[in-house]
Amino acid sequence: MKKWLALLAAKVVLLIGLHMGMLVLVSGLFPGHKLAKDLAYTFSVMGIDVVLLLLGYALWMDQKFRCRVCLHRLRMPVAKGNWSRNLFSEPPELEWICPFGHGAMHLNHAQLISAKPDHWTSNDENFWRAFEDAWRKD
Ligand SMILES: [Zn+2]
Repeated sequence: MKKWLALLAAKVVLLIGLHMGMLVLVSGLFPGHKLAKDLAYTFSVMGIDVVLLLLGYALWMDQKFRCRVCLHRLRMPVAKGNWSRNLFSEPPELEWICPFGHGAMHLNHAQLISAKPDHWTSNDENFWRAFEDAWRKD
């Protein structure tokens, strides 16, 4: 989780740095500028904000689909649940897993008020434990 938070902090610092750098660049192009007085300068600042908002969204989507432990991209989406039955007890979701078995990201498809939000579940050290019962010969 520390690596994941460090990567998120680095992305936020990158966005802030890009924003400050682009504002300095645009301020150099429009000397004596006044926000909401100079139309070209105002639209330039708005354009910078829109571009960085889209970049921030893309960075957040990349961050959301990374493993909280090893930072690898999550893979192998599996649809779970059911739309037609058990909408409240077993709502449809998409589960993405870490290729190294550290955990899974659960994306809720049914946007209900009572539905669980998207969440990460970590596996313990022995991530083969889920299969141990299947291998056991009774
Ligand atoms: Zn992982």
